[in-house]
Amino acid sequence: MKKILVLGAGGFIGSHLVQFLRKQNHWVKGVDLKYPEFSETRANAFTIGDLRDPYFVRYILDQPFDEVYQLAADMGGAGYIFSGEHDADVMHNSALINLNLLPELLRQGIKKVFYSSSACIYPEFNQLDPDNPNCAEASAYPAQPDSEYGWEKLFSERFYLACMRNHGLEPRIARFHNIFGVEGTWRGGREKAPAAICRKVAEAEAGGTIEIWGDGNQTRSFLYIDECIEGVARLMQSGFTGPVNIGSAEMVTINQLAEQIIRISGKKLSIKHIPGPTGVRGRNSDNRLIQEKLHWTPSGRLGIGLEKTYRWVNEQVLAASLVGI
Ligand code: NAD
Repeated sequence: MKKILVLGAGGFIGSHLVQFLRKQNHWVKGVDLKYPEFSETRANAFTIGDLRDPYFVRYILDQPFDEVYQLAADMGGAGYIFSGEHDADVMHNSALINLNLLPELLRQGIKKVFYSSSACIYPEFNQLDPDNPNCAEASAYPAQPDSEYGWEKLFSERFYLACMRNHGLEPRIARFHNIFGVEGTWRGGREKAPAAICRKVAEAEAGGTIEIWGDGNQTRSFLYIDECIEGVARLMQSGFTGPVNIGSAEMVTINQLAEQIIRISGKKLSIKHIPGPTGVRGRNSDNRLIQEKLHWTPSGRLGIGLEKTYRWVNEQVLAASLVGI
C-alpha cells in the first residue's frame, strides 16, 4: 500500500483517479478547491484549499507521500480556454500551483510526481490541415500553442523537467488529448465538446436542432476516462519521464461526433453551425511514442464511451429539469 496525494481530486480526472487508486488499496489524500460534484470522494482524507497559496501547499504535504499526482489547473473546454476572457487567470493560477508545488516536494524529499499536461501545447501551424495534424511529441518545438492555456502547460512541463535535471525530481508527464466520460462537467461554461453535445442532444426535442460551433469539420480524438487512468497508471509504473501523449488515435470531425451522439440518443435531430470558439483545425493523438515506451496504446473505443456518457448526461438533464435548475 502506497501513500498517495492527488491534487485536483475534486475534478473530473482527479476524482476518477482517486477511485482507481483506492481500488488498488492505496491510501489516498485528495486536495482541491471543491469536493467532486457528482459523487462522494473515495479518498481516505480530503482537504479543501487553494494550491495558489504556498503555505497551504506546505500544509498539505504533512507526511512522506510515495507518489503525488498533480491534476489541479484552471481549465475548461473551448468556451473557456479559447474565448480569450480567462487568459490571464489561466496562466497565473495554473503556473502558481506548479511553482508552489515542486520546491515543496523537493524540500520534503518527495520525488515521484505525475503532471497532467495537454495536447494544447502543440504548435498551431502543425494543426491547420484537419486530415493530417502532427502531434508527435517531438513536434512541440519550435513552440506555438494555440492558447495561453497551452503556453502555461508547456512552461510547467519545462519546470518539471528542469527540477529533474537540477534537483533529482522524478516526474512523469502526460499530454492528455480530450478526455471525456461520466461525471465530467456537462454545463456551466467549462464543459468540453463530448459532454456539451450530449447535453444539447439530451435537451433537444425530437425533430429539433442542435448548435455546433464553427463548421464542424475540425477534427479531434476523444479518450474515455477509464483508458486515460490506465495510461496514467502505466506511465507512473514505467521508467519513462515523458512528455508522452495519452489519447485516442481515432480521429473524427466534430460533425461526426455529434452525429454519433444523435444516433445513440435515437432522436431525429439536425445540426446548425453557429460562430464560436473552435481551437485548431485538426488534432489527433500520435501514439507511436507511448507504444514504444509503455508497449501499450489506448484501444480508442469512442462509441462505447459515448454511449455511457450520453446515458449519464441524459440522466443529469432529466434530474435538473425535474428540480427546475
Ligand atoms: P477539472 O477542471 O475537472 O479538474 C481540475 C481541478 O483542479 C478542479 O477540480 C479545480 O477545482 C482544481 N483546481 C483548480 N485550481 C485550483 C487551486 N488553485 N487549488 C486547488 N484546486 C484547484 O479538469 P480535468 O478535466 O479533470 O483535468 C485535470 C487535469 O488534466 C488538468 O490539469 C487539465 O489541464 C489536464 N487536461 C485535461 C484534459 C481533458 O480533456 N479533460 C485534456 C488535457 C489536459
